[in-house]
Amino acid sequence: MNNSCLIDTHIHSDNSPDGHHSCMFLCEQATEQGMRAIAITDHCETDTYREDNYERSTMQSYLEILKAKTSFTGKLIVLRGIELGQAAYDLPLAEKIIQMQEYDIIIGSIHNLRGRQDFYFMESFTEQEAYFIMSEYLKELLILTDWGKFDTLAHITYPLRYFYARNQIHIDMSRYKKETDELLALLAEKEKALEINTAGLRQPIHALSPEKELVRRFHELGGKYITFGSDAHYAEDIAKGLPEAREAALFAGFDCCVFYQNHHPMEIPLN
Ligand SMILES: [Zn+2]
Ligand SMILES: [Zn+2]
Repeated sequence: MNNSCLIDTHIHSDNSPDGHHSCMFLCEQATEQGMRAIAITDHCETDTYREDNYERSTMQSYLEILKAKTSFTGKLIVLRGIELGQAAYDLPLAEKIIQMQEYDIIIGSIHNLRGRQDFYFMESFTEQEAYFIMSEYLKELLILTDWGKFDTLAHITYPLRYFYARNQIHIDMSRYKKETDELLALLAEKEKALEINTAGLRQPIHALSPEKELVRRFHELGGKYITFGSDAHYAEDIAKGLPEAREAALFAGFDCCVFYQNHHPMEIPLN
């Protein structure tokens, strides 16, 4: 197995509302699988921070990551991460959250439009709504990237998996060429990473987020860094889909992926 497939930079523990296993158990399983490094990146949703008590779960997650990091020294590199959702919806709070701990990697992500629920909880979409949502979603990603206080931008086509799962809607991403070019160019200019998220391979849509064409466009627009993340919410999903992420990265013209230590990109050759 190529080393790039032994580093998973996006994993949730049971300190995420939808996670199922403890940090220690995740690390044990990762070690047994022969992984080199994993980042535990629990959810911290900026826009529901107070009502969903993320202050407590984020602190708990960080302490458990530190404990696992010490316990697995010499066996597995355990990276201190966070998946910071919707940071741009409350920037002062987001700034405060990222300063509270010493993270290795901050994942920037968006799971819902402003004032609306996570796409995950939406029961159905019309094709017209799907196109509208994707357009709004890309605008929000651009605002988030303009802020830029994260290391890697996660699952940039996140709504697609729900359009497909709920209503078998496939939308044509080429209609958003101007928007995706603007987003990927800004991400490249800010020297941030694009994440290739493999969770969609385990869902009805059966696709990477983003798919390889957008990864290639990121490379063409000067993108230097990519990260691979399974977005595992169960220990058994750690590293799932990383070989497919590697294939997409090679197709796109990359020769390395990265993981982050103290926000510094560490390059791992794909060959
Ligand atoms: Zn996410
Ligand atoms: Zn995630």
